[in-house]
Formats: sequence, structure tokens, C-alpha cells
Amino acid sequence: MEKEPLNWTICQECLGRGKKSRRISKKTRLLYQIALDEFEKTLGKGTAPLPPKGNLYSCPDCSGSGLLATANPPEANEEYPHIAIIGGGIGGMALAVACLHRGIPFTLYERDKDFNARSQGYGLTLQQASKAIQGLGIFSLKEGVISTRHLVHTPEGKVIAEWGTRKWIQSDIKTSSKRTNVHIARQSLRLALLEQLGGNNKIQWGHQLLDFKEHDDEGIDLSFQVDGKIKKAKADLVVGADGIRSSVRRQLIGENATSLRYLGCIVILGICPLSALQHLNNALLDSATIFQTANGNERIYIMPYSSGSVMWQLSFPMSEEEAKLLSNKGPGALKEEACRRTQWHAPIPQILSSTDENLISGYPVYDRELLKPEVLEKSGPVTLIGDAAHPMSPFKGQGANQALLDALTLARIIFKGCRPLSDWRKAGIRKNALMEFESEMLQRSAVKVQDSAEAAQFLHSEIVLHESDAPRRWFKK
Ligand SMILES: Cc1cc2nc3c(=O)[nH]c(=O)nc-3n(C[C@H](O)[C@H](O)[C@H](O)COP(=O)(O)OP(=O)(O)OC[C@H]3O[C@@H](n4cnc5c(N)ncnc54)[C@H](O)[C@@H]3O)c2cc1C
Repeated sequence: MEKEPLNWTICQECLGRGKKSRRISKKTRLLYQIALDEFEKTLGKGTAPLPPKGNLYSCPDCSGSGLLATANPPEANEEYPHIAIIGGGIGGMALAVACLHRGIPFTLYERDKDFNARSQGYGLTLQQASKAIQGLGIFSLKEGVISTRHLVHTPEGKVIAEWGTRKWIQSDIKTSSKRTNVHIARQSLRLALLEQLGGNNKIQWGHQLLDFKEHDDEGIDLSFQVDGKIKKAKADLVVGADGIRSSVRRQLIGENATSLRYLGCIVILGICPLSALQHLNNALLDSATIFQTANGNERIYIMPYSSGSVMWQLSFPMSEEEAKLLSNKGPGALKEEACRRTQWHAPIPQILSSTDENLISGYPVYDRELLKPEVLEKSGPVTLIGDAAHPMSPFKGQGANQALLDALTLARIIFKGCRPLSDWRKAGIRKNALMEFESEMLQRSAVKVQDSAEAAQFLHSEIVLHESDAPRRWFKK
């Protein structure tokens, strides 16, 4: 990653929100007062008018990031609640960074022994979050690759859809409102967050959360398994950022209420170096094109992974039992199955056969039923972010985007609701911050979970073969 030269602290002008709200005009306030008076005359029978809100605009002092450069990282202010963040994946690391910038004390616990403990090799596409990461002090992703063209093919190689800035520029369609998608390896993004955090020693590696217990006035006791021994810790607030099989979630609401929901398909993933494909001289391998090919059952999606490699993701319907069996057989069997199913147009067979088995993985696809805010209502000073709160299928590429947005939103709300001299100890962190956070998070992510589940169906159906220059989601029904 490109080294960010500076530390960051929050912008005092917008208090780290990146946005400011315009003053509400006298006329609007007056109209509201009239409507309120009218409502009161109905003795509560009519509909109460909503108080006017000032329009938001990007803060000019920090250009909308909510951050300003500083010589030293801010000191933690112990007047804020101390947060135990469980899980050092995308969401947990992002939350730690956002807390660091705000002087909110935290400890980040991760079950893995170190950063590279497991193979975590797959690529992410930053969509909405490509802007949000600036709020985490990441202004450039050196390893990030920008795509300008997206193509959909039939297995014979006929192009049935094309979109992206290259197409829009050619056809003179205005692109100003189009977002830029950045493709990046998950570990590269994690590394950028780790660097913001100040390095490896800022994480309690090898700490697997076992359980936690809330005490009325003394916060929460946590127990971890560390090197085969039990270790205890304390916190005022616990945030479960521990992924789709979250143990914080299990302890909060049980496994049965919203158990894992199998979405009827398996994904097989691989990463292939472009150096192995140079002889093909294929325009699809220009490090700026995403292409997918589908036949109404199998679907393969290939995107730049780094400037020197591509990532492929093959998916197809399969029973849960068969999918588990195939996944357990390991990379050799997964590769064989993937090659057998995709004897399609170039360069697909060549990419799959040139992929090293060490860089192949595959697993059945799950999500969970949507959480309702009421389910968390009695959770006290404990909450969830990212996949722990709202796991979703990978077909919309939204999981990490939502986890990053959750992290930044939660830190911003805690900063405001639990500031020193606020009554958070008396009123409770739930009332001062978590209720607002969970309501925003669950509403924002619900549509992504649903769309991602629908995509697991229609991407493996005839619908995907419809000829139209638009992302496949635009005609899913
Ligand atoms: C193939 C694939 C492609 C994807 N593509 C995209 C994409 O393009 N765009 C996108 O936005 N999303 C994508 N996603 C989804 C995205 O990766 C996840 O949604 C995202 O990583 C969730 O982040 P998280 O922090 O919630 O959980 P994770 O990143 O899963 O992190 C959870 C962490 O918690 C730790 N942990 C678990 N249990 C404990 C415990 N008991 N104690 C301590 N630590 C614990 C784990 O070791 C892990 O490090 C993709 C996912 C896959 C699999």
C-alpha cells in the first residue's frame, strides 16, 4: 500500500462527519411551527409534522472526509466507553481505525495468530465504500485497480451486454454521476487499515472470544482462549465484528432464531497470474475489464485482482450436501470441477487451467434472515457489525462495503452520543448510541442482503442471458 504520510484526527468543523447541515430558513421554521400548532389542535388525531432538517453538504475544511492531518495520533480519552472489538477482519479493523481518529479507547481482539494466518485470498470491489475509506484515512490504494469496462458473454463468446465508462464515453453518455469501482485484494485493504492503525502490535492476535457477561455497573467481562489458556478482559461496549459465524451474535440471540440460510449454490474461486496467459494476447486481460459468462446454470465472473493477476469466481446451483462434500475435497477436486464445467470461449479454459491449486478455494453460499432492530433491543452494551449482523451472498460484492460503512457510522455515532460529560454511563450506551446505529445499519444493509440473495438465483437462470447493455441487476425480474 502507498504509505499515508500523516496521522489523522477528526475535523472540528464537522466533528468528523464529513458533512455539515445548512441552517434551516426562517420561513421553513415558521411553516413547521404552523403545522405543529394545527396538529396540536387535533388533540393528537392528525399526523404530527416532521421537524425540518437542514440540507447536508460536504464539509469544506476536510473535503468531506471528516479528517484532518495531525503530527501525532490522538490520545485515547478514557471518558468515552472502552470498546472491545471482536474480530480483526475488514469491519473490525475499520472500526478500530475510526475509533483511533476520534480518541475513543478500544482493544481489538482477533482469533488468528497473525495477519497471514490463513489463506484470505480473494478480491473485493469497493463501490460506495471507495469514498467511505477516505473517512478511514485511506486516500489512495496503490494496489487498487480501476475497471472501465464490463462485459457479459454467452459460452460461445458472443457479447450480450456491455457497460462501464469506456462504453459511456464512446456513446457520449454523461459519466459524471457514475461511481468508480476499485478492485483490490481483501488482504491489501486489510493491510491499508492495519497501517492506519499503527501496525501489528495494535491487535491482540491469537485471542478467540469464548463468552462475555454484562454486569450492572461495571461493564462487561470477556473471556478469551489464548494459547490454550483462558484470559479475562473488561470493556464498556462489545462490538461483534466476527464474521458470518459470529460467536457474539450466537451468544446474544442464539443460533436458532436466524440460522445460516443456504442459498442453493457453491462458489469456486481462483487467482491466476497474467504472466501465465501472456501468449493469448486477449483484450479481456487488459487489467481494466471485468467480464462474466453464463449459460443459465453456471456463471463465471472474472475481474482484475491486482495489476498482474485476475480473480475468477465460478458459481452454480448444487444441493447443500453436495456443495459441502465438494468443498471438503479441496482445491484439486474444485479445480477439476470448475474446468469440466467451463469449456467455453477463450480465455476462460486457459485461465482456469493456469490457476495454481494453492490459489483455489470453494464453499457453499449462505446468508441469514434479516435482523429486526427489536431483536437487539435488549442487548445492552453489545452490538454487531459487518457479516456478524447481516451476512449476504457475494454476488453483489456488497459485504465488505457494508462492513466499512457500519464501522465508520458506529464510530461517528459513539463520538457524538457518548462524548465526555454526556450521560452515557447513566443512560446507557444503547440509548445514547446503539439504537440509532442499529436502526441506520439494518435499514441500509437490508436491501443489499435481499438483492444479494436474489442474485444467487437469477445469475444462475436464463434471465442472465437477456441482451441489454446494463448491469444484470437492472432486469432481474
Ligand atoms: C469470494 C468472496 C468475494 C467477495 N467479494 C466482495 C466484494 O467484491 N465486495 C464486498 O464488499 N464484499 C465482498 N465479499 C464479502 C466480504 O468479504 C465480507 O462481507 C467482509 O469480509 C465482512 O467483513 P467482516 O469484518 O464483517 O467479517 P470478516 O472479514 O469475515 O472478519 C471476521 C474476523 O473475525 C475473526 N473471528 C471470528 N470469530 C472470532 C472469535 N470468536 N474471536 C475473535 N475473532 C474472531 C475472524 O478470524 C475474522 O478475522 C466477498 C466475500 C467472498 C467470500
